[in-house]
Amino acid sequence: MLQSKKQSLRLRRAMLANIGVFLNMFLCLLAVFLGYTALDYQRVFILSLGVWLGHSCLVMLIAFNLNLKFTDASLTLPQMLWVIVSLSLTMFYLQDIRSLMLMGFLLVMSFGAFRLTLKEFFWVTLFTIACYLSSLYAVFVYRPNEVQPSQELFIFIGFVVSLIGFAFMGVELSNLRSTLSKRHKELQSAFLRIEELSITDDLTGLFNRRYLMRVLNKHRALANRSDYNFVVCYLDLDHFKKVNDQFGHPYGDKVLVAFSRLINTCLREVDIAARIGGEEFVLVLANTQLDAAYNVCKRIAEKWLAETSQNEPFLPLTLSTGIAEFKFTETIEETLERADGLLYEAKNNGRNCIVIEQQEQQVPLNFEIQ
Ligand code: GH3
Ligand code: MG
Ligand code: MG
Repeated sequence: MLQSKKQSLRLRRAMLANIGVFLNMFLCLLAVFLGYTALDYQRVFILSLGVWLGHSCLVMLIAFNLNLKFTDASLTLPQMLWVIVSLSLTMFYLQDIRSLMLMGFLLVMSFGAFRLTLKEFFWVTLFTIACYLSSLYAVFVYRPNEVQPSQELFIFIGFVVSLIGFAFMGVELSNLRSTLSKRHKELQSAFLRIEELSITDDLTGLFNRRYLMRVLNKHRALANRSDYNFVVCYLDLDHFKKVNDQFGHPYGDKVLVAFSRLINTCLREVDIAARIGGEEFVLVLANTQLDAAYNVCKRIAEKWLAETSQNEPFLPLTLSTGIAEFKFTETIEETLERADGLLYEAKNNGRNCIVIEQQEQQVPLNFEIQ
């Protein structure tokens, strides 16, 4: 997931919790109204406002990306601890409806399911129990007549059992979430791999015809909109059939792979090479003039001849090339057809040559290699 997407998810969760804390303020004021606390409106308001502002600070950290400095950027643990402490404080001030706060503790635990590990759940559970007991102890010390030990013990046991149950559920959900996120990552990389395979030629690793057409259409759109131009070079190995006949198909495959590797070493990053048939290749040279394209193809032919002449057991392999430049508003098929036609001319000229399309006339340039 992209960092910005993760951040907005974190912010959304923290805001949700923040709204909960804010609404709690009204609940506390209602408790004053109904006479469930000895505190007056003003104190309850200041207390719950402080709790809300404290939590808002954590939300701000996320909103301004300051949370990214922490190991757990979701700030789940600090948010939970802050609300647990706040609930314990509220619990101390409430009289007959103290046990209402227990639901709040459980709700907080459910937030942990987004992030916490088993160990963290264990410590948060202990912390919650400690806060609950401290609050109860404080009530016992300051307002002993409000505490009925046997009833409190019963509620406490029920609370601890529920808390442990919630913690286990939380761990399960947390595990499920990390398994899902792992699966999601695996699927994403599988998808990228499939996408890569769908545009790649199996044998040589060059791009295939599908990708070539996609790229050509993009180049065409660009060329029609600005003074950008591009050149298409159609390359075909001469008498390749003989290689297969003489040395076998697997050897022919190796030759195709070697040729593809060589092409790649002669191109810039902005150019692309595709294998569109058995021993036929197309180069797309971005922002290139015809004479520069000629030099690129000449370099490929020279290097290839030098490479194949050295290898044993092997006859020197030549190649024929047709080079055409995209013409304003024509279709990609038309450009490719012209390049193919020039290649055909090169074959007819005795192979081992490059034919460039000139603006005015077509001049076959026989390419001699010593
Ligand atoms: P030309 O100079 O006229 O291009 O002659 P050529 O023999 O190169 O051309 P032709 O079209 O007659 O033959 C192409 C050969 O390429 C025939 C086919 O066996 C071979 N070929 C096509 N695809 C592959 C492949 O993937 N691997 C191998 N090893 N050979 C292939
Ligand atoms: Mg051929
Ligand atoms: Mg061919």
